[in-house]
Amino acid sequence: MTQQQRSTAQWRELDAAHHLHPFTDTASLNEQGVRMITHADGIYLWDSEGNKITDGMAGLWCVNIGYGRKDLSEVAKRQMDELAYYNTFFKTSHPAVVELSHLLAQVAPAGFDHVFYTNSGSESVDTMIRMVRRYWDVKGKPQKKTLIGRWNGYHGSTIGGASLGGMTYMHEQGELPIPGIAHIEQPWYYKHGKDMTPEEFGVAAARWLEDKILEIGADKVAAFVGEPIQGAGGVIIPPSTYWPEIERICRKYDILLVADEVICGFGRTGEWFGQQHFGFKPDIFTTAKGLSSGYLPIGAVFVGNDVAATIAAGGDFNHGFTYSGHPVAAAVAHANVKALRDEGIVQRVKEETGPYMQQRWRETFGQFEHVDDVRGVGLIQAFTLVKNKATRELFDNWGEMGTMCRDIFFGNNLIMRACGDHMVSAPPLVITKAEIDTMLGTAARSVETFEKKLRERGLA
Ligand code: PMP
Repeated sequence: MTQQQRSTAQWRELDAAHHLHPFTDTASLNEQGVRMITHADGIYLWDSEGNKITDGMAGLWCVNIGYGRKDLSEVAKRQMDELAYYNTFFKTSHPAVVELSHLLAQVAPAGFDHVFYTNSGSESVDTMIRMVRRYWDVKGKPQKKTLIGRWNGYHGSTIGGASLGGMTYMHEQGELPIPGIAHIEQPWYYKHGKDMTPEEFGVAAARWLEDKILEIGADKVAAFVGEPIQGAGGVIIPPSTYWPEIERICRKYDILLVADEVICGFGRTGEWFGQQHFGFKPDIFTTAKGLSSGYLPIGAVFVGNDVAATIAAGGDFNHGFTYSGHPVAAAVAHANVKALRDEGIVQRVKEETGPYMQQRWRETFGQFEHVDDVRGVGLIQAFTLVKNKATRELFDNWGEMGTMCRDIFFGNNLIMRACGDHMVSAPPLVITKAEIDTMLGTAARSVETFEKKLRERGLA
């Protein structure tokens, strides 16, 4: 350990004194004190008090390969010794970024032979926004500028990403969205499906895009952007009819289709990319997280061949980051993607652990009185806390019950996340069947405690 050893209390004090946390109410955090995570292995974290914690969220949906892979740290060291940094701006490249690009073209769906590198999901999304607008400029249709996203979608925290995302609590801070962004409603069957079958609802929800295109004017719309499965919005899984209908509408009106694969990419659904699970073909897709399993910050925008050719035909594309294609991040991403493929990790999610998780997840949570819409694909799953299952009534004060439930899980040393009153989970893809059983045992005990608390508080 290279850090200085301190007591938990000392770390807490220094953290409160000097560290501003993301998406955090600082005053309230500093009152409680942070939990110090000191090391990790496989699907487990340890805190500074020696507690072993099951990470049911793979960090922030990113540690696909699991923690503690020494081969990745060795690759990083070797690359740092050899070429710690060089840029790719001025007619130069380096072996690490060339090898990664070659490998990514192999694991990507057909027609995606090019990538543009970033350092995060947000930067991938901002890069995509600029690329989409540049595409239409080069095509001689500069009036096609508007990108359509979805309410409750999440596309990052930069000004572009936060604008395109549909989190109103983010828009409220900083006068967002920027111009040229529009939103449609999310395909949440449980809430909006009413008397329709899921298949009917999927088509109806996709038609909201058509309505919006007609409202704005197809000649002004550049792209539709969506996560194959909305992650931070609470693991909203659209019916099977949704994406094919979205694709048909985009083609009809000559609008680029963009998938934000930052969470779904690199095996989360059991396919390499979420678009393959749903059977649609975007023009561009954004990635980060699972690309390096979070071992180093790196993102990539996968550019379809038509868009890549158009951007190339336009001469200079005036965009890039000092660390685009950073050698150490690229070398680690290469080793990570190679391991996800060659060790059969993605395939195991599709054939074995994914189906097992989904079966056990439904068995475990289907029985509770205040748990409904138990859902998931591969190793991304969720359920929703509800007041009344029969009437699909949600709790008042959206998010309060989720936070209460999440805290009970944390207390039992299992990390799951509350997105409003959706309880979500996305563990490392290396989780075993035995570990799934143990995790769900703890989760079931936590929900029992939650329902007991509801009764004690007179809320149920
Ligand atoms: N897009 C999606 C779909 C995401 O889930 C996230 C992060 N959760 C982002 C973009 C932003 O990624 P980052 O936090 O790496 O900037």
